[in-house]
Amino acid sequence: MTAILQDKETNPFESMMSRFDIAAEKLKLDPGLYQILRSPDREITVSIPIMMDNGQLKVFTGYRVQHNIARGPCKGGIRFAPNVSLDEVRALAAWMTWKCAVVNIPFGGAKGGIICDPAHMSMGEKEKLTRRYTAMLIDVLGPERDVPAPDMNTNEQVMAWVMDTYSMHQRHTVTGVVTGKPIELGGSQGRHDATGRGVMICCDQAIKRIGMKREETRVAVQGFGNVGSIGARLLFEAGYRIVGLSDINGGILNDHGIDVHAAIKHYQETRTLESLPGTTPCTNEALLEAQCDILVPAATENQITSQNADKLHCKIICEGANGPTTAAADDILESKRILVIPDILANAGGVTVSYFEWVQDRQGYFWTEAVVNSELERIMVDSFNAVAAYADKHRVNMRIASYMLAIDRVAYTTKLRGIYA
Ligand code: GLU
Repeated sequence: MTAILQDKETNPFESMMSRFDIAAEKLKLDPGLYQILRSPDREITVSIPIMMDNGQLKVFTGYRVQHNIARGPCKGGIRFAPNVSLDEVRALAAWMTWKCAVVNIPFGGAKGGIICDPAHMSMGEKEKLTRRYTAMLIDVLGPERDVPAPDMNTNEQVMAWVMDTYSMHQRHTVTGVVTGKPIELGGSQGRHDATGRGVMICCDQAIKRIGMKREETRVAVQGFGNVGSIGARLLFEAGYRIVGLSDINGGILNDHGIDVHAAIKHYQETRTLESLPGTTPCTNEALLEAQCDILVPAATENQITSQNADKLHCKIICEGANGPTTAAADDILESKRILVIPDILANAGGVTVSYFEWVQDRQGYFWTEAVVNSELERIMVDSFNAVAAYADKHRVNMRIASYMLAIDRVAYTTKLRGIYA
């Protein structure tokens, strides 16, 4: 029984759907629209044969789920990880639909994933995997159809391979087929830091809401990938006191503050955060329960659950990762009066600058980093305020407010377009 309950709690699609259901009920969503919005438009599974460096053939499984295209082309990252599943990719695709709608950019939602262990693959193997996956999806990708981006364990180089493979098939260079590319290939200034920057902007808005100042705000960040390390650095540079950091192997604490620049240097040299002078090592569980004002879960799904939500000490949670909190934990956090800035708002900085990249690629005209950052700030602040106002008006928390706002926008467009039959 416990196992079944636990499985239900941590299934990302169930997690997404239970919030969707609450929001849909509060919106009194038409039952027909409810059915449309809960079902992904298209789910593709591909078997990807790769000749490995040792001369053996290996077949990998990859997915691309296109959840909804009512508001524009599908948008969403591709992740490489051993535990990728169709259920996870399906949830992440739906989250992209809601995320793009929350920040009001003209995209639908999609997500891709390949079951693989990138830590134990060579560059050549990863390149072949990326190219064959792209080739197998050639008919469904495109600047007007579906635009991938980086996600867990994928980066600018992987996007360059996607762009090149797609372009080779089209017989001309198509930069707008992916975002998060190297700047030299049509990438955008500011895209690399964008998700972390969006997290920082949300923290600024949240402390304003509860009347705190940056200097007196203690922050613990879980995860040291693109979102966690850049988010921590930008928060540190903005004057926040970073009291905890962690990566997949464990974390470090110092209530007086951690020099994030020193932590990044140490991490680059040793591939570990532990042993950073002046800090105390801790487990990832202990990091989440650290004494802090803001907790930034920026690692992976299901970190804050019914098992540990009661043990958190923060006032604010700013969700850098997708789905770090289970639906069962939401109620506990609410009863503890923790202000949760939900993932579909807090980590939307990445896809927002992806949108700017796509616009720049289509225009062939590129913006300065200052323009990108100020446009990002405008969209994040406006979206934060729109969600907060919606929450106040409907007397719901920020998570349900963001779902309501997003579902309302997608439902409205769907109704306006009508049903083609
Ligand atoms: N993978 C990122 C996310 O989950 C970025 C997606 C994008 O830029 O399309 O939001």
